[in-house]
Amino acid sequence: MTDDSHADVLDNWRQVQSAVAEAEAAAGRAVGSVRVVAVGKTHPAARIHPLLAAGHRLFGENRVQEAAAKWPALKAEFPGVELHLIGPLQTNKVREAVALFDVIETVDRPKLAAALAEEMARSGRRPACYVEVNTGLEPQKAGVVPSDADAFIEECRDRWCLPLRGLMCIPPAEADPVPHFRCLAELGRRHALPVLSMGMSADYPAAVAAGATHLRIGTAIFGRRPAIG
Ligand SMILES: *Cc1c(COP(=O)(O)O)cnc(C)c1O
Repeated sequence: MTDDSHADVLDNWRQVQSAVAEAEAAAGRAVGSVRVVAVGKTHPAARIHPLLAAGHRLFGENRVQEAAAKWPALKAEFPGVELHLIGPLQTNKVREAVALFDVIETVDRPKLAAALAEEMARSGRRPACYVEVNTGLEPQKAGVVPSDADAFIEECRDRWCLPLRGLMCIPPAEADPVPHFRCLAELGRRHALPVLSMGMSADYPAAVAAGATHLRIGTAIFGRRPAIG
């Protein structure tokens, strides 16, 4: 599957790795301590394959249906893949999501938390969960608003007993992302949640400086996406 037409992916990947290392060093953080979730959404398996062949194992997809079409074969070929769901999850897709994903980054409402708890009990599979926080209070965006976050995090832990590991945010497109990263980091500290998933192609060095443990990077690795997606 790997061929020269996708050589740009590995070049991009090396550039991202060195930019992350530079940001880690600048922030006084251990080089290699921040993990990169390579976001392959809209890109065909043939474009993801070179990164897997180079040894990378951490990937993200934003749609259950697309991931279900692409990833079972890739997971079978490359043991040790860790696949993150980074897009909104409908309750009618919870069964499929729990079966396929290793981390669900977008837990954002009680109905979804309840459905995840039920499916985890039924299937015995317990993918790690992150709570998505709508730090920009954007009405069109998923995520729990910051003023409801404390209560929702406690509900996920205490009522639903979800394997809650961290928090995720997508700052507003035009805003300075740093206050949003700091808001997420403060919430993580308050709840002793070790994982902060924040930082995308346009702003990941700032996310590293603000304490991100996981960056979700698509365009800078795989190039521009086709119009839909
Ligand atoms: C697409 C996507 C990304 C990656 O965005 P890029 O700007 O292409 O790096 C990160 N997080 C989420 C939730 C996404 O949907």
